[in-house]
Amino acid sequence: MPLLSDLRRRGWTSWAIWSSPRPAIVFLLVIDLVAFAAAAWSVVVPMSPGDLVECLGLVGLGMAAAEMTRQVERRRRRFSDTPHVNFSSVWTLAGALLLPPALAALVAVVLYLHLWLRSWRGVSGIYAYKVVFSNCNVVLSCLVASWTARYLDLFPPRADRGAVAAFGLMFVIAVYFTVNSALVATAIALIKQRVSAKTLLGPLNENILELATLCMGTLAALLLARLPWLVVIVFVPLYALHRSVLIRQFEQAATIDSKTGLLNAASWNAIAEAELDRAREHETDVGLLILDIDHFRQVNNLHGHFVGDQALRRIGDALRSEVRSNDLCGRVGGEEFVILLPGTSADTILDVANRIRQRVYDTRIQADETADVFQITVSIGAASFPAAGRTLQELMTAVDNALFAAKDAGRNQVRVVEVR
Ligand code: GH3
Ligand code: MG
Ligand code: MG
Repeated sequence: MPLLSDLRRRGWTSWAIWSSPRPAIVFLLVIDLVAFAAAAWSVVVPMSPGDLVECLGLVGLGMAAAEMTRQVERRRRRFSDTPHVNFSSVWTLAGALLLPPALAALVAVVLYLHLWLRSWRGVSGIYAYKVVFSNCNVVLSCLVASWTARYLDLFPPRADRGAVAAFGLMFVIAVYFTVNSALVATAIALIKQRVSAKTLLGPLNENILELATLCMGTLAALLLARLPWLVVIVFVPLYALHRSVLIRQFEQAATIDSKTGLLNAASWNAIAEAELDRAREHETDVGLLILDIDHFRQVNNLHGHFVGDQALRRIGDALRSEVRSNDLCGRVGGEEFVILLPGTSADTILDVANRIRQRVYDTRIQADETADVFQITVSIGAASFPAAGRTLQELMTAVDNALFAAKDAGRNQVRVVEVR
């Protein structure tokens, strides 16, 4: 078929979407079609020349904002493989509030096209089908928000409606946010199949960011309705927000071990030193554990490095879930972990270490549903401040020696440093 061979030549049949599970493909295509049909149907709402001018104005503002933050956006995109909030919803929500639904959809489509052409194209990990789906998702969110705002008669805003108008606007924000998040969560659930609720909902930070963006969109719409020229002031917080998010991503990359999500060696050391300073000042106890996976080379040899990495991730999760939120877990070597436990004394460190050792032992690891299940054990060296040493260096040397003793004793053991 000439059409198919033409598409193949252009690489379209190798789009990543076709390698997704069938229900995911169906869902993505259905959402794309529904968004298209709903936008087309929305043309029934009459549009005035003034609406067209406002639509052009919003597109211009959205493009200007995207140009202003283009470099930051490209760097953020390169950086993260997590769900990623872009700031275009400032303008797409403003469109939903101010414009007839079809024009609001048009604003969303043009802004996404612009973002694709100027900021996202060619950045690895960004697939066209995902951008199309995100865009259709935004179009649907806009349409639902726009219909809700019309139904509640929120625009143009009237001062005499006071709290009712305020609650109405917050309700529209909630509607936009919910539709958008629900569609993203469904798509992720169908594409990745086995995912946690946390992955589906996305990180808290990103959700707060999306809400902040929608709040700015509402403020922009109110300004455009009452004092249009003042809308320029929205650009300053928008730019600041964009930069602060990039800085947060840099910070995360510099401090977190990407394989396990635990602290990396440098940041663990820095925070542990600060924690010990505090303990010296207040004369409190601090526990320290070092864990080394037993015979990990064999795990790699038997199951491959990829499964070895998965095992590291599972161990990281197990450690995190077994300690308190203010305990510090870090990955300091290939398959070595450290945990600093503020407030844990020499009397209790053995129990804590054994609990963690047991937790790792109970963790079943499986590469996929068809693969063999296997277990991993860890040897642990334990010590506590101030009994086993006063500086981090002294304590680390002490737990290292205890770890060797645990290995010598047959592995899957805990050894506590003798108190001096
Ligand atoms: P022991 O019980 O004495 O600790 O034996 P071991 O095989 O675990 O030896 P060692 O502690 O020296 O472990 C080093 C091995 O850990 C070498 C390497 O194959 C593996 N390893 C280190 N870092 C990584 C990593 O990031 N991913 C994977 N898959 N394997 C790693
Ligand atoms: Mg080792
Ligand atoms: Mg080892």
